[in-house]
Amino acid sequence: MTRIVSIGECMVELAPSSVEGSYQIGFAGDTMNTAWYLRQLLGEDHQIDYLSAVGQDAISDQMIAFLEDAGIGTDHVLRLPGLTVGLYMIQLQEGERSFSYWRGQSAARNLASDTAHLVSALNGAQIAFFSGITLAILSDTDRTRLLDTLNAYRADGGTVVFDPNLRPRLWESADAMTASIMAAAEVSDTVLPSHEDEATWFGDADPEATLARYTQAGVKTVVVKNGPGEIIISDNENISRVSPVAAPKVVDTTAAGDSFNAGYLASVLSGKAIDQAVVDAAALAGRVIQSRGALMPCG
Ligand code: ADP
Repeated sequence: MTRIVSIGECMVELAPSSVEGSYQIGFAGDTMNTAWYLRQLLGEDHQIDYLSAVGQDAISDQMIAFLEDAGIGTDHVLRLPGLTVGLYMIQLQEGERSFSYWRGQSAARNLASDTAHLVSALNGAQIAFFSGITLAILSDTDRTRLLDTLNAYRADGGTVVFDPNLRPRLWESADAMTASIMAAAEVSDTVLPSHEDEATWFGDADPEATLARYTQAGVKTVVVKNGPGEIIISDNENISRVSPVAAPKVVDTTAAGDSFNAGYLASVLSGKAIDQAVVDAAALAGRVIQSRGALMPCG
């Protein structure tokens, strides 16, 4: 049995329904989306666990039920009294989607508050996956605790995979964000950045510069996504490139990167070579962006 632990925040999503003025409830969040796709792609010989924190109220119960129905393990989701889950709302104005968030007080901000909880969640896992959003929601102390625990897990033979997923609005400053992202890269075996975001906040002139920055930080495998553009890979200093197949129509790019990450990890875990895993990842992301919403059944 292979076990993968995805670490982060799942939120309640309120999205416009087909009935004018009504909204439907869903659940989404970058690391949860990746766990959800991994569950679809991998067989029962793989356990996919979520490491997070929720409240003890009815909507937290509903989130746990959603994760369990999806086949994602919730044994390592803390249930904290007096807190609840974060929420975001999607609004459509003249066909354009905009997002509003209520996550400042969410329980998930405490997901790394207890070292023993982190250690037990990671115990025996082959892969720990987390993102820049996971880091952004934590206090400085908890962020350090998470990175230290991942470092120790890695020293014990675990593999750490990180998607920087830059969200400057969640950080107190751009400098705090870029410093934490590079600290996370230093404890990671694989980093899966998106060049467009990285160019804005790190000043990378091109995808090669993004690749070089992470390899120079000591990351063994770096896969630089770039929307519809060529993906550059560095694996043990061997550089290769994969072009995604152009999507005939792009409906909604939500979770393009999240599904890409899952497609990549599922193929690597199935024993495929890195370049083939990137081809598979791009194929999945290319399908996901052709339908509305973050989660597209694909198993
Ligand atoms: P993120 O969603 O994290 O910003 P990207 O926009 O870089 O990530 O996209 C992730 C992956 O999704 C890309 O590497 C590519 O494989 C796929 N993808 C994104 N946009 C397109 C597109 N227009 N056509 C085909 N594939 C795409």
